[in-house]
Amino acid sequence: MDTLVKKFLEKVASRDPHEPEFLQSVQEVAETIIPFIEENPKYKKARILERMVEPERVLMFRVPWLNDQNEVEVNRGFRVQMNSAIGPYKGGLRFHPSVNLSILKFLAFEQVFKNSLTGLPMGGGKGGSDFDPKGKSDSEIMKFCQSFMTELYRHVGADIDVPAGDIGVGGREVGYLFGQYKRIKGQFTGVLTGKGTSWGGSVIRPEATGYGVVYFAESMLGTRGESLEGKTVLVSGSGNVAQYTVERCIQAGAKVVTMSDSSGFIYEPQGIDADRLAFVMELKNEKRGRISEYAEKFGCEFFEGERPWKIKCDIAFPNATQNELDEEDARALVGNGCICVAEGANMPSTPEAIHVFTEAKILYAPGKASNAGGVAVSGLEMSQNSLRISWSREEVNSKLWQIMKEIHGICVKYGAEEDGYINYEKGANIGGFVKVAEAMLAQGVV
Ligand code: NAP
Repeated sequence: MDTLVKKFLEKVASRDPHEPEFLQSVQEVAETIIPFIEENPKYKKARILERMVEPERVLMFRVPWLNDQNEVEVNRGFRVQMNSAIGPYKGGLRFHPSVNLSILKFLAFEQVFKNSLTGLPMGGGKGGSDFDPKGKSDSEIMKFCQSFMTELYRHVGADIDVPAGDIGVGGREVGYLFGQYKRIKGQFTGVLTGKGTSWGGSVIRPEATGYGVVYFAESMLGTRGESLEGKTVLVSGSGNVAQYTVERCIQAGAKVVTMSDSSGFIYEPQGIDADRLAFVMELKNEKRGRISEYAEKFGCEFFEGERPWKIKCDIAFPNATQNELDEEDARALVGNGCICVAEGANMPSTPEAIHVFTEAKILYAPGKASNAGGVAVSGLEMSQNSLRISWSREEVNSKLWQIMKEIHGICVKYGAEEDGYINYEKGANIGGFVKVAEAMLAQGVV
């Protein structure tokens, strides 16, 4: 089996040798999917996995815009349309200086499995730009978003490809992108999700990824007769996903002791309470400041340039970015008695870190399962747009909770091992794969 996996990965690597993040995400899938394909030759004959690692389409374009000094700036825009077997392409847009084709292909590839797991009819895609929103004025953000959409509009649409937010793209950016699409097309459609609630957005969409990852962790803990009540929690990041993870943890009676950004982490031993979380939300969403300002304001410790994983905890939510938790961090977590790691970010744990978690048989959920709540509520936003109605908070939240519970069930179905350990990564990969593979078989060689 190892030889088959190795041969497959060598072939992908020979085609995309300069795409380390994409190859990492393919490896994580191939290791569990290839043995499954060997047991199910119909997928092998139709070369489903070989087709799935090849995007249906990759768009790359120039994004020129004028800064506040009236100087010309040039960025690069992307949209990776990975797989449309089960629905229109769906996945976020990331604006961050690190964005390149490798990162977007890994995100688009993961998105295919994640969207399939939600049970909703959504294919997988991802896009973005190497544009850095940090330090830019509102007017510069608007001009950039308008220029970006002036090219992207040709390739997206409510039944074609429906982008949403991701790192660096929140409600403000979605607004500017939507405005420009509507202006060019002359149509008010559900072309983006994460819209404002007064113009087609769904309630609970901002909360969805953060709440969803906590709901998933609660299901995982439930398999061991545990709950969040009284647990000490580490959260990394302080953006959208991190903020609502903390909110839901507080509601569930857990004590969240860390949050971070790319400059370091704050450590609040008595726990971040609702008032202090409100400060973080204002700091990050309105003032666009640094997490170190939290430490200055409340007099707690700030660890510059460090990640929070060496702090003792019961549960960890890596919610910032890819590869933010390595083998050494994983050993520190396990050594300190951590029993559960649920990923809010996409691929935050390195393969070596995942190995440490599964060897130690602690509860570990990959982002493609545990952070699917965001895209799930995006799918519900698409449904509401098509029906031209809006559901209540209670309705959307209970659908989100149900979807996360069902994803957990799929992971258990395909991931339970002989000794009773649930390999959530295996479960998520196989569970996500089957639905897409069946659709691809039915639709022929396309
Ligand atoms: P966000 O609101 O832009 O927040 C990102 C957070 O991560 C910020 O605290 C940021 O710090 C930190 N960060 C970004 N790049 C970093 C780096 N290279 N090193 C250390 N910290 C870094 O984005 P988000 O929507 O919360 O997304 C966070 C993660 O969740 C991403 O992996 C994303 O793909 C994933 N995700 C998001 C959604 C969603 O609905 N938004 C859904 C599923 C998965 P700075 O402020 O210093 O940059």
